[in-house]
Amino acid sequence: MKPFYIAIAAALTGAATLALAAPPPEPKSGIDLEAFDKTCKPCDDFWRHVNGTWLDKNPIPARLASWGSMFVMREANSERLRTILESAAASSAPAGSNDRKIGDFYTSCMDTAAIDAAGLKPIQPELNRIAAIRARADVARAIAALHTAGLQVRGFGGIGPFGVGATQDFKNSSETIAMLGGGGLSLPDRDYYFKTDDKSKSIRDAFLKHVAKMLTLEGTEPAAAASAAETILKLETSLAEATMTNVERRDPSKRYKKMTWEQAAALAPAMDWPALLKQLGVPASQPVNVMEPAFLTRVQSMLEASPIEDWKVWLRWRLLRSAASNLAKPFEDEDFEFEKVLTGVTEQLPRWQRCTAATDAALGDALGEAYVRKHFPPEAKRRMLELVENLRATLKEEIENSPWMAPETRKNAAAKLSSFEAKIGYADRWRDYSKVSISRKGYLANIRSAAANGRAYFLGKIGKPLDRNDWGMTPPTVNAYYNPPKNEIAFPAGILQPPMFDLAADDAANYGAIGAVIGHEMGHGFDDQGSKFDAAGNLKNWWTPQDREQFEKRAQCVVDQFNSIDVGDGLRHNGKLVVGEALGDLGGLTLALKAYQRSLKGKPAPVMEGYTPAQRFFIAFARVWSTQVRPAAMRLRLNTDPHPLGKYRANATLKNMPEFHQAFQCKRGDAMVRETQCQLW
Ligand SMILES: [Zn+2]
Repeated sequence: MKPFYIAIAAALTGAATLALAAPPPEPKSGIDLEAFDKTCKPCDDFWRHVNGTWLDKNPIPARLASWGSMFVMREANSERLRTILESAAASSAPAGSNDRKIGDFYTSCMDTAAIDAAGLKPIQPELNRIAAIRARADVARAIAALHTAGLQVRGFGGIGPFGVGATQDFKNSSETIAMLGGGGLSLPDRDYYFKTDDKSKSIRDAFLKHVAKMLTLEGTEPAAAASAAETILKLETSLAEATMTNVERRDPSKRYKKMTWEQAAALAPAMDWPALLKQLGVPASQPVNVMEPAFLTRVQSMLEASPIEDWKVWLRWRLLRSAASNLAKPFEDEDFEFEKVLTGVTEQLPRWQRCTAATDAALGDALGEAYVRKHFPPEAKRRMLELVENLRATLKEEIENSPWMAPETRKNAAAKLSSFEAKIGYADRWRDYSKVSISRKGYLANIRSAAANGRAYFLGKIGKPLDRNDWGMTPPTVNAYYNPPKNEIAFPAGILQPPMFDLAADDAANYGAIGAVIGHEMGHGFDDQGSKFDAAGNLKNWWTPQDREQFEKRAQCVVDQFNSIDVGDGLRHNGKLVVGEALGDLGGLTLALKAYQRSLKGKPAPVMEGYTPAQRFFIAFARVWSTQVRPAAMRLRLNTDPHPLGKYRANATLKNMPEFHQAFQCKRGDAMVRETQCQLW
């Protein structure tokens, strides 16, 4: 799931101090009555009912594309990271220590005077490399060389038309192999190159202006820059044609083409493979998953046919694009100009906030260790494990009693569930950054060092058995995930704070918020993608044909539901793109409610602030999804994000749940009651 917040540490300290002097305080309800809009009835629009006043009083800040509970949590976390980093920067931590490194990295990022003074110098070697291209073979060599340019804090992919990484072998999940995926697109998705509606055309026009402006800043004459922008769009459109759609990409079997490097090289012989593999330190003897062979074939024909000058200008643009947000102000500003077009934001995030995020991306475990020390009490981890195990036991019962699964399928589903690994808070072992060299000056050099270390770390796993210690997110991240080949669910420390998770709150609210998130991540193990992986994380069918058909029918119900929702301006979700997340929400909430009821062990739970336990459960759930989005960002999300918009994550899910209808006495014919109710289990 993508995104999803108050103060665990403060609440704990409060409770501990009180406990000495007085009996423990009564748990609070965990629901926020001031957020409600009672003029909107719960059975008309529950999302609005629960969040209306909050939404009206909290317009989206100019620097953000969306705003809601998860974003409030994120902002609070940035502030915490800022405090940690400013004190690390001011401390006398010894040279080479992690505290010194995060402090110095942050300082170098904040030093805009040095960054501005450096101008284009930090990327001059790469610009020279591109300028030196004379012959066709030079293009392939430059693509190989630029793979390790390492100009982005996040990720370590190159700036060329494809990326090389490490992945678990989908069909032998205990092995790590190389992975080669398509890339090279500067617009958010392949469809942006082809859509003919006015909005899409205007985005392409803005893109042309943006590319031309960037090239002008770098020193190209305006007329030449404008025609270069056209060339760049044409080249990328050709790459986009050979790129899978985001719906196609959801089918893991379509992304699995294991082969030898010899076979991969045969798809694009014009590429300088030995140079590339050597540059990356990837062993040629190990297999590779070429995710999109057709894409590689396209790169080959373009390497043969597209003019050398086209490649040169495209590489220059890609270099500028990848470095721009970390370069001098004119580049950074122009980079932001295009973000405005895509998201509708009008102000840049303050520098400190971009620098906390950059430090998290570059040295995530070092910053994460400091964050966890300060903001993640062991009690939170213990309580989370309890919740996870309670949901697991509930799901086991659901599976065992499933009326539509054959005994064999039930057995396989139960085996998958019992082997889920639950990661809570942070990794058991922190990553080693001893080889990362960080100075207080030279921001881009710091990024390069961190990127080189990340690349060596991940690519170094190729050919080795799976390391289960690794996380896909850093500890302060406000998010959670399920990883099918590892069959694991993970909840970084960052998400374990109110209103998502509150040690001081009553259980009904915690189950409705974080409980539903746990259920959601477990549900991904059984969604359109996850259900294709077995207990060991291998891409292998474990369903009987009849059961699979039943499952597909249930999934289709959710696809149809989302296709039918008009989100405004005549826009709709793409049901097939959001089905996995929507199934996770529906299955997750159903499961969390049952787990909550199970946790009561037959004892009645109290009415609090006038609401029954079941009502508080649903209120907490809808509160998490209080997100509002700018119109431009909404379009971007509908086109690219597998997560439905917050309003529909709440309402569309609840419309399917008889337990919700009962809790708020909604009747047939009410907007919150769907005629055909979808059900997963
Ligand atoms: Zn999800």
